[in-house]
Amino acid sequence: MTLLLGVDNGGTRVKLLLAREVGGRFEHVRTDDAPTPRGPGAMDELAVLTRTFLAGDRADAFGITVAGILDETSGVVATSANMRWLEGLAPARELSDRLDIAGVAVQDGVATAIAEAVLGAGRGADDVFVLALGTGIAGAHVVGGAVRKGAHGGAGEIGHLAAGRGEKCTCGQSGCLESLLGGTRLGARWDRARGVDASSTALDVVLAAERGDGTARAILDEATTALAHSLLSVMAMIDPGVIVIGGGLSNSPTWIIDPAVDKAHRQATFHAVPPIVRAQLGTWAGAWGAVVTAGHRMSGERRLERTETV
Ligand SMILES: [Zn+2]
Repeated sequence: MTLLLGVDNGGTRVKLLLAREVGGRFEHVRTDDAPTPRGPGAMDELAVLTRTFLAGDRADAFGITVAGILDETSGVVATSANMRWLEGLAPARELSDRLDIAGVAVQDGVATAIAEAVLGAGRGADDVFVLALGTGIAGAHVVGGAVRKGAHGGAGEIGHLAAGRGEKCTCGQSGCLESLLGGTRLGARWDRARGVDASSTALDVVLAAERGDGTARAILDEATTALAHSLLSVMAMIDPGVIVIGGGLSNSPTWIIDPAVDKAHRQATFHAVPPIVRAQLGTWAGAWGAVVTAGHRMSGERRLERTETV
């Protein structure tokens, strides 16, 4: 049995999760959360929180998430827009020195994708593609419990696949999926189509569509067509066993997920359309991903035979 600690160090809350791994199965022991320690003393404060949480239990390893860009080799945070005090630090090493427990850092989106693939909606499949639909759109290809990052660390950028016509994207291209479906873009496109300056959100667009607003429905229709194209591209390129869709926009299955999945099925020709399912783990996915990453690092294995959460 291995006792593993997950530290999901988010922008506002830090979530702590203690789990035991027995024969590749993960079992929940306990959880807690607290306001995220901020500023120069953050790592000292985080160590105190963690020690209190462990309450005398001896974790064999921990994983800590990083909300930002992480140098995978050194474990140093390159940039973190919301947590500037982490920049230039190696959070896993900082916490490891204070707790005397081996640790590993993992980018938060990677942790979430690993958790969903191994313990959540992708559980049981060896080859899973996980999408996060939010303000931005990210993707991760998880094989055997590890994310395939590609030769230069840039794989999975589904948000910047060409998926439609015209829209200028933040990345400089035109017609990217993110430019048509990204959370803030949906609101902005609806406002522009109506000729108003309202800073509408994606939720505003969905609620308007529910009320029968034709412009909102047309914008969502174009966005879900773009998502369907992107899902088909994923199938053509990597043929995953399951596609998991998470992120804030996945909370609107009626107007976002279901239409896109229907269109993907209708437009598929040679593609093997796998189950396309919503993410299951919710706000604890990052902490579970940190636990799984710590477990991998402990065992030195990149593949888990069988995993289970409780
Ligand atoms: Zn783009």
